[in-house]
Amino acid sequence: KREMEEHDGRRPQPLVVLTSSPFHGHMTPTLQLATTLHANGFPIAIAHSNLNPPNPSNHPSDFTFLPLSDNLSAVEGTGGFAKFINTLNNNCKGSFKEHLTRLVNEGNKSIVVIYDNIMYFAGVVADDLNLPRIMFRTTSAAFIPALLLRQQVRQHGRFLEEDFVMQEVVPNQNLLRYKDLPFSKTPIEDWKQNVANYSQQAHPSALICNTIKFLEHESLTQVHNMLQVPVFAVGPLHKLAPNLSSGSCQEDTSCITWLDKQPPKSVVYISFGSLATMETKMLIEMAWGLAKSNQRFLWVVRPGSVSGSEWLELLPEGFIEETRERGFIVKWAPQKEVLAHFAVGGFWSHCGWNSCLESISSGVVMICQPFIVDQMVNARYVSYVWKIGLELEWVERGEVERMIRRVMVDEEGVEMRVRVNDMKEMVKEAVGDDGSSQKSLEDLVDFILSC
Ligand code: UDP
Repeated sequence: KREMEEHDGRRPQPLVVLTSSPFHGHMTPTLQLATTLHANGFPIAIAHSNLNPPNPSNHPSDFTFLPLSDNLSAVEGTGGFAKFINTLNNNCKGSFKEHLTRLVNEGNKSIVVIYDNIMYFAGVVADDLNLPRIMFRTTSAAFIPALLLRQQVRQHGRFLEEDFVMQEVVPNQNLLRYKDLPFSKTPIEDWKQNVANYSQQAHPSALICNTIKFLEHESLTQVHNMLQVPVFAVGPLHKLAPNLSSGSCQEDTSCITWLDKQPPKSVVYISFGSLATMETKMLIEMAWGLAKSNQRFLWVVRPGSVSGSEWLELLPEGFIEETRERGFIVKWAPQKEVLAHFAVGGFWSHCGWNSCLESISSGVVMICQPFIVDQMVNARYVSYVWKIGLELEWVERGEVERMIRRVMVDEEGVEMRVRVNDMKEMVKEAVGDDGSSQKSLEDLVDFILSC
């Protein structure tokens, strides 16, 4: 750790102002980064959306919280994602500028802004006020060039709804297929607006990625070449700030007691994160696939995640009774604890980036079922590049059964487990003394001090 005393003492430690967005998967790593920088001696302020605000009582008492007037009432994660981001940025900009101006007027001469890339208004405001601005990406590094590819492909006007096109590898790419690109169901006009807004962003002074060098070395180099600013790979942040609870969802810890009674590596953990939603048909196919696989499972069914139901009403009749001995369902699990549990042998995941990092750090193999935005790219890396998981291409009960057995029972699963366990050890090294993420963090601390 770089303690405050190590600073040359001539200038005060800069105040680091971080922006926290209403998305759980963005807010958590942002707060982990804040905690890590605080442990390195920096005073911290969190400028946060009023929608899904962080809970100050989970943080050191000297953190300052700066609410932003977002005027939003609900997170829109799927169809209206691009519009939601536009509104978030338009609405928050004014109050962020007021906060920063006040902080400058109060004599905080040295301020560094670290902003979540989806809150790009903060980069613009920092630029207006002549303050250093560092962009923070909560996604994989590989997603950043993929985002540009999507724009190019859309400009070329390829007709992408056709299945055969979607399966093709994108020209000049040896890896990503059209279906892996972050196309969303968002109307093209909204995306155009979104892209236009992004392109008016201030160029960041540096970039922080919640990733690890050994995992994404090539993508990090590509990103560095694209942006031409220092890039710091300080992940996985949950390992650098392990005790932080984001506290925005109530964790059901009874599942840990249940896991304690299961044999080692026998349980498939199923969770699709904080945003993904599904139709009833998918829920039913998942349920029958689980029932037919004959494997133990811990399933997070988030209330409201199945269209037209509050929680479990639409599960097939008899499913709960039939699987009572070997299944457990919760609304929200203590995921990191679950993945680290000896009884968990596989993770059927939507491949949100935090979930991928948490799974790799715990040495758990994955079944990949991506839904939106960056999840398809992550799933492709997990299954095709790192070979620590399998891609579930269509959710049909027979296919689900086969996938679960391939991962949990077959030799294929054993081989993947060896690879992911090696990665788990490499993560430990990366966050340990002299590891790549620790070194990147030290470089980041030096960079902030030099701003
Ligand atoms: N999570 C959790 N309990 C759950 C489901 C998810 O604690 O039952 C946490 C998980 O550990 C991860 C985050 O929620 O840190 C989900 O982030 P991710 O990037 O994987 O997906 P998103 O929610 O952004 O789609």
